[in-house]
Amino acid sequence: MNILKLFHQAARAHPQRPALLSGATLLHDHAGWLQQVQLRAGWLRSQGLQPGDRVLLCMANRPQYLELLYAALWAGLAVVPVNTKLHAREVEFIVGHCGARLLVSDHLAELGAPHGVPGLDVHALPPVQGLEPLPLQHREGDDLAWLFYTSGTTGRPKGAMLTHANLLAMTLSYRSDVEPVQPDDVYVYAAPISHGAGLYTFAYAASAARHVVPQSGGFDAAELLDLSATLDRVCLFAAPTMVSRLVDEAARRGTARHGLRSVIYGGGPMYVADITRALQTLGPHFAQIYGQGETPMTITCMTRREVAEAWRGGDGRIPEGEARRLPDEHRLASVGRAHSVVEVQVVDGQGRPCAPGVAGEVLVRGPTVMRGYWGDDAATAAALREGWLHTGDIGAFDAQGFLTLLDRSKDLIISGGSNIYPREVEEVLLEHAGVVAASVIGAPDPEWGEKVVAFIVEGGAGASDAELDALCLARMARFKRPKEYRRLPSLPKNHNGKILKTRLRELYAQAPTGNPG
Ligand code: AMP
Repeated sequence: MNILKLFHQAARAHPQRPALLSGATLLHDHAGWLQQVQLRAGWLRSQGLQPGDRVLLCMANRPQYLELLYAALWAGLAVVPVNTKLHAREVEFIVGHCGARLLVSDHLAELGAPHGVPGLDVHALPPVQGLEPLPLQHREGDDLAWLFYTSGTTGRPKGAMLTHANLLAMTLSYRSDVEPVQPDDVYVYAAPISHGAGLYTFAYAASAARHVVPQSGGFDAAELLDLSATLDRVCLFAAPTMVSRLVDEAARRGTARHGLRSVIYGGGPMYVADITRALQTLGPHFAQIYGQGETPMTITCMTRREVAEAWRGGDGRIPEGEARRLPDEHRLASVGRAHSVVEVQVVDGQGRPCAPGVAGEVLVRGPTVMRGYWGDDAATAAALREGWLHTGDIGAFDAQGFLTLLDRSKDLIISGGSNIYPREVEEVLLEHAGVVAASVIGAPDPEWGEKVVAFIVEGGAGASDAELDALCLARMARFKRPKEYRRLPSLPKNHNGKILKTRLRELYAQAPTGNPG
């Protein structure tokens, strides 16, 4: 079944309901939106694209993003939404790796024409009037719908193959475990459509709810609060960094009525102090999810009610005359319980289930787990073993079945909700003639969660911070470059010659500002 059957059914049943808005401006009702998708799908097919062909989408959030995403899926094509901030070289790699047949972007000039793949400028979409609307194309559950590129430990991005059945299971699980969607809910794309915010589109489409793309095309706390106060019943997905910015803005304004219904946070660790402040400032409107590209948005979750209860006990209300109960910090720090559609277990080094309170690797099995990595059998075999997805995350369940994550696959850095794999950065640094060795770690940062810190060993004429910064800007997405450089005479290694990042983290912790010795 094509995942868009849910959208089709809901849009036909509620043709007059508002569907798509740019900021607070209505663009289409559901009848109009459905027709636009059918026509654009017809146009895509008229360009020679066949079911299963990959369409790469690289742009800021905008209504046309949703139009192309829906039209491609409707036409039976597979979408490859990538972070709009990726460097042209990174986009070129993905275009070549997945064999994309079309590249849709709002900055084509910057991206060039990787591998000669035709580009479509989203600012100048060809008109669809006069075309035949395409009927919804049938897809088997196992057919590829969304290729989710996630960086691998080798530094090369890997494409998690998400099928129509994966997206359906994710959507149903969201609606039953995280947030029951109502028709008058307003879903705002505050975070990138290429990631979690886009994946949740199907859950809202299934109820013919409203889809709102902020006019800034990205995350702007002031714009978001204005929009939610105007539109009301606003739901959104946000990385913890965004939540903090939203809370700062709300605290600055001091307004009581904000129109937010649910802020679903996830994608990186949320610190107890931050979620507490968010609850104090905006009220019990926060739910959490833990997932990863390989099992999209679906491993564990904590509902709004559970988060609110952990915050102050009971149902979030303080009965008259009673003292406020202390927050349950352990619960607030957890990522919740397994989504209903998946099995989640924590295992030790030998693959044996750990007892409550004992940490091990988090494994997931169920209908949301990807089919494998595109064109990468070795990585697939490493990630999917005996039906279980090995997440690389370290966590522990408590006796009530709530999971707490202790660490990620050791080296992954999450800065502002975006993943940064040290190896990618190290490879770029090592391109400099004055760098003989490089190792990158994540260090705590109050604004971004983590920041990139590079330890380098210089040779020859050495390398200045400015030169390294320029090199990184030329080679990769801006957000991945180190915020700080440290120089060492040699990198600490174990007896097998492997660099000891744990030692580097200790070195950094001993002297968090300035060069250690
Ligand atoms: P991605 O594949 O880009 O979605 O990144 C997935 C990784 O982000 C997971 O494997 C976790 O390490 C981390 N992550 C996702 N959600 C959470 C959460 N709620 N709390 C802590 N870490 C998270």
